[in-house]
Amino acid sequence: MADLSLRHVNKKYSSNTSAVKDFSIDIEDEEFVVLVGPSGCGKTTLLRMIAGLEDLTDGEIYIDGRRVNQLSAKDRDIAMVFQNYALYPHMTVYDNMGFALKLKNLKKKDINRKIEEAAKILGIEHLMDRRPAALSGGEKQRVALGRAIVREPKIFLMDEPLANLDVQLRGQMRIEITKLHKTLKSTMIYVTHDQIEAMTMGDRIVVMKDGEVQQIDTPENIYNHP
Ligand code: ADP
Ligand code: ADP
Repeated sequence: MADLSLRHVNKKYSSNTSAVKDFSIDIEDEEFVVLVGPSGCGKTTLLRMIAGLEDLTDGEIYIDGRRVNQLSAKDRDIAMVFQNYALYPHMTVYDNMGFALKLKNLKKKDINRKIEEAAKILGIEHLMDRRPAALSGGEKQRVALGRAIVREPKIFLMDEPLANLDVQLRGQMRIEITKLHKTLKSTMIYVTHDQIEAMTMGDRIVVMKDGEVQQIDTPENIYNHP
């Protein structure tokens, strides 16, 4: 539900090493972009900068044409889903999903409705009173997705969300996330090491290496013409 532009984005954690170098891309509204590349090439750093969790050393980020460099994470209307789920361990599934909505001062009735809708989509209605420790890996990842969905973010960032799941569950969740993207019409950046995910989910694939864009193209062109 938003277009996203990165202009010459750079990140240095220390003076002599660049994690992300001169990274530029225009991502269209509702586009599903898959980000691939070797470990340490800067994928997570890039997502964290887009989400507002990490300052840029240089460059600009625009959402719907508006420069957001100065906006805090909570004002960017972006949700991020992590590989390790990052659920709040002391809270129930319901409270995990409602936490961000409470911070927004939504009415209890509206919070309830949003959580119920998301839980239904993800098939986790029966888990609402559990704590994360009592969930399987697949259930945890559904809750993590649910916590992001209820916020109805314009932009979804997913950092290897399925990496900790077994092969069968990964295949199932891959299809569910694709459906979710079609339903929510959000703009998506999805990091993965899985070639099947990259080939089947992405409108475009960005190949990163040493902090730089190496290639941006459709899955067909990337995988058929190496
Ligand atoms: P990827 O997600 O592709 O594995 P990262 O974005 O995690 O890559 O890391 C990119 C580079 O930045 C790596 O060299 C990594 O060691 C370095 N890096 C990541 N986070 C930090 C940090 N908080 N402080 C210093 N260096 C970091
Ligand atoms: P996995 O196959 O991912 O290892 P588990 O064996 O952890 O899954 O869990 C299997 C099922 O049992 C899941 O539906 C999970 O929600 C449920 N479960 C696991 N631990 C508890 C618990 N402490 N209390 C209630 N239900 C639990």
